[in-house]
Amino acid sequence: MPYRELGSTGIKVSRLCFGTLTMGPLQRGLDLARGAGLIRSALEMGVNFIDTAEIYGCYPYIREALKGYTGEVIITSKSYAYDREGMERSLRGCLEALKRDYVDIFLLHEQESAHTIKGHWDAVEFLVHAREQGLVRAIGISTHFVAGVRAAASVPEFDVIHPIINKYGIGIQDGGVEDMLEAISFAAMMGKGVYGMKCLGGGHLIPRLDEAMDFILSVSELAAVAVGMQSPAEIKYNVDKFSGREPDATLAEQLKQKARSLHIEEWCRGCGQCVQRCTAGALEIAGGKARVNSGLCRLCGYCASVCPEFCIKVF
Ligand code: SF4
Ligand code: SF4
Repeated sequence: MPYRELGSTGIKVSRLCFGTLTMGPLQRGLDLARGAGLIRSALEMGVNFIDTAEIYGCYPYIREALKGYTGEVIITSKSYAYDREGMERSLRGCLEALKRDYVDIFLLHEQESAHTIKGHWDAVEFLVHAREQGLVRAIGISTHFVAGVRAAASVPEFDVIHPIINKYGIGIQDGGVEDMLEAISFAAMMGKGVYGMKCLGGGHLIPRLDEAMDFILSVSELAAVAVGMQSPAEIKYNVDKFSGREPDATLAEQLKQKARSLHIEEWCRGCGQCVQRCTAGALEIAGGKARVNSGLCRLCGYCASVCPEFCIKVF
């Protein structure tokens, strides 16, 4: 498994980062032992980098996976908090849930531009203070926007940027793949540690798995790539691919058959909260129920977190 320096942070990460979103309650909803077992097996294959977020509900898997593990593990979490008090609650909640004295990387979740970063500046100031206190080693943003990457690249307080990037630009909200690649290059040139997300376009590129992975591995400015993994087969494929070994062809074919989609249960009462939450504009209310436009949906599952009826799942 190759390892890279994450910008100027002094943190060395495996190029394959274990993305926890897809195993958690917003998506597959694996039981604790199974989810933790998957993370642990990836760690034992050389992965040392885990990506999570407050909203994912995945801290218990990580805590369980790390029990008795003595190797170094780098953990990122993220929060939507916009003020000092909210961010302090998020960070302390993360430390408590993970039973750690510090978390390596803490990000503002889903920033869009210089404007939204400015709107979260109280939270940034808390994170700067937390970094000085040793509660966090590096701070920054995650984003689905080219403008978010460009803006964060010029913020001296930020160490890390976590952008969406994939071969066909699926899910990039304000431009194409070339625009995002250019922004990533700029961020890396500014000394930021950049690691990518959604290299499979939230599942849309699974039928083109090898092509999508070859593309993301060719983006040299990415210190790492977070990939959601829900099964031993996915871990095996990704560890081989990121390590420069040709994955087993039969295994790759099996993985390519695994289509993903968003399901809305019959009992949806059309309250519209999911529509408000979806920043991709992929949901609408029609006939008194939520309906998804699968061409716009990036299968993030974030809408599931606001549904009071537990109607939404991404499988
Ligand atoms: S939040 Fe849930 S209940 Fe409300 S419209 Fe969306 S799916 Fe239906
Ligand atoms: S519909 Fe839900 S899963 Fe799809 S992009 Fe919107 S928030 Fe994400």
